[in-house]
Amino acid sequence: MVEIPKTKWDQVGGLDEVKQKLKETVEWPLTNPQGFERLGITPPRGMVLYGPPGTGKTLIAKAVATESSANFIAIKGPEVMSKWVGESEKKLREVFRKAKQVSPCIIFLDELDALAPARTGGSENKVSDRLVDQLLTSMDGLENLEGVIIIGATNRPEIIDPALLRPGRFDRMLLVNEPDEEARKMILKIHTRDMPLKKVNLDKIASKMVGYTGADIEGVVREAAILALRENDEAKEVTSKHFDAALEEVTPSVTEDTVKYYAELGKKLRSRTVRKKKRSEDDLYM
Ligand code: ATP
Repeated sequence: MVEIPKTKWDQVGGLDEVKQKLKETVEWPLTNPQGFERLGITPPRGMVLYGPPGTGKTLIAKAVATESSANFIAIKGPEVMSKWVGESEKKLREVFRKAKQVSPCIIFLDELDALAPARTGGSENKVSDRLVDQLLTSMDGLENLEGVIIIGATNRPEIIDPALLRPGRFDRMLLVNEPDEEARKMILKIHTRDMPLKKVNLDKIASKMVGYTGADIEGVVREAAILALRENDEAKEVTSKHFDAALEEVTPSVTEDTVKYYAELGKKLRSRTVRKKKRSEDDLYM
């Protein structure tokens, strides 16, 4: 389950602010723990990346692991769920044990909302309630897990159990939004790096791609190449005609409603956290 990631920062287009925050909160504690000790602060234990699907949350978590020379253990929320009593908690404990063995290590909990939804408090002892308890226990026991940082990712941060978002656990939340025009240009450049292009104006294409996520952009580039091959299986170049046709095929996944949803969510999360913890807004990166 341990991976040595090879994703570099230059493979991630845009997201400059998120990159910078991840450097400070994940890379520095792993590469310069003495600095934190010298200044008398405890590095964060975990953070949550949230935002629409396909905006690069997994990609950026891998990049920060690569650049921190850390190992990477990725698990998806639903994968841990088991109907057998105690099995799910055991899997989770195993992940933390392994991470400690191979530290420095980043544990990436994808689909965190499925793994740790708000506990119901009922008597039925649901798997998800037990998993949240286990996750809290594992994260609280991190004193002796030096060199392990947990990054959670979700599209639905509002349904995560609030106890997990308290200081000392996932105490930072970062919005990974859909790319703006400049970022779309960079993502297009990244994904066409090895593609023979002819008369293709990437700037112009980027300006048309409002609402396309990084994953959508990758999809458009792939589709353009497939269309070129469909036309001629000996094709040696991809032209603007192929890109125009690909844009018809692959539609943007971020709509105005999605943008509104995350903007509202940002406000709600901020006020909820500030109210609960009486912490300053500046401590949270939304
Ligand atoms: P989900 O919420 O569905 O898990 P995600 O936010 O984790 O999605 P990724 O899995 O990281 O998204 O992105 C899918 C693919 O899209 C990446 O492997 C990458 O090829 C491309 N991609 C996404 N964002 C970017 C970006 N900012 N720069 C370059 N490529 C990107």
